[in-house]
Amino acid sequence: MNILVINCGSSSCKFQLFDVDNGTVLAKGNADRIGIDGVLSYQATGKDKIEKKIAIPNHKEAVQLVLAQLTDKDTGVIADVSEIAAVGHRVLHGGKYYSESVIVNDDVKKVIRDCFDLGPLHNPANLIGIEACEAALPAGTPQVAVFDTAFHMTMPPKAYMYALPYEYYEKYSIRRYGFHGTSHRYVSKRAAEFLNVPQQGLKMITCHLGNGSSFAAVKDGKCVDTSMGLTPLAGICMGTRTGDIDPAIVPFIQKMEGKSAEEMDTLMNKKSGVLGVSGVSSDFRDLAKAASEGNERAQLALDMFSYQGSKIVGSYAAAMGGVDVIVFTAGIGENTDTIREAIIKPLEFMGAKIDPAKNNGTRCEAVISADDSKVKIVVIPTNEELAIAQETKALI
Ligand code: AMP
Repeated sequence: MNILVINCGSSSCKFQLFDVDNGTVLAKGNADRIGIDGVLSYQATGKDKIEKKIAIPNHKEAVQLVLAQLTDKDTGVIADVSEIAAVGHRVLHGGKYYSESVIVNDDVKKVIRDCFDLGPLHNPANLIGIEACEAALPAGTPQVAVFDTAFHMTMPPKAYMYALPYEYYEKYSIRRYGFHGTSHRYVSKRAAEFLNVPQQGLKMITCHLGNGSSFAAVKDGKCVDTSMGLTPLAGICMGTRTGDIDPAIVPFIQKMEGKSAEEMDTLMNKKSGVLGVSGVSSDFRDLAKAASEGNERAQLALDMFSYQGSKIVGSYAAAMGGVDVIVFTAGIGENTDTIREAIIKPLEFMGAKIDPAKNNGTRCEAVISADDSKVKIVVIPTNEELAIAQETKALI
């Protein structure tokens, strides 16, 4: 069974076509720079990557282009779009309405539309992607919405409420939602399978460390707290995002620098984080290189990242009354042993101990804790696209 996974961002449409019966990728790519100058990249598995400049005025045309590429008689991997059994769409925000993935109908589309204010860059693009697939594929081809927020909907009110006047929760649904939910769900389930233990009764902390980074406290397989908030700006400092800061800093800088709300938004989302502190890069490989050459601000940015990470993991152990498993995933979590070590080091007091021999150089599914560590520490590579394809298959 072939399932197409679509991930529409503000100016891109990433895609992967899976044969879900054996979990293989038939082809993948990205219709990028939508509404700018248009670049389509495409790779059929086992074949050379193709990249071409082509006008992509909007997301609707991006989806048509993707389908045309997949069925191209020379480079395509299917003969006809009818060979696509269903489409799984990554959707950023499902508000408080969905704790699981759902088959798209008019009610689901209304919720995605109602959440435009909460995900202004992504939700409109996600909806266009869904409607473009509906128009381009045979009538009745199921479309499934897989929400980034869904996994976190099991959080109790004490974890998701902000201490603002209650009317803002009632009027505008201002609360913690959390993101990267598909990844946290996938790696928490996979880690339990990998360790051969049931999720029931297990206290787990999943650390999704990438350009955007978030943590989740997962008890009995259900999320009880997470570090991102109303938006993906909250939590630990990230590549270019501040993470949590004293909220009074915002009006302070606005006043001192005469900045608008929009300028502050850009400053905190795009110019801050480890990039802002180091002045070097948002990429942890560049930071590690600069730090090894003696750049003190690059080292400071790395230290801040791991220090804040340790504090979140420690606080989630407190939130759950303990922790059995800590999972590292995503670009940094899967590849950067020094960050894993720096996050865990201060947590030895609570029985979390890394084995350097197992940790160093590990980039695949593995246990990296010492034999005498009370807490199992594992690396589980995330695969959000495969998770979306699997959830889509399960629903249809
Ligand atoms: P992601 O958003 O999950 O793609 O992660 C991006 C971050 O992961 C960047 O800061 C990269 O520096 C880091 N990263 C990705 N691949 C590697 C790698 N092979 N070695 C070290 N860091 C990596």
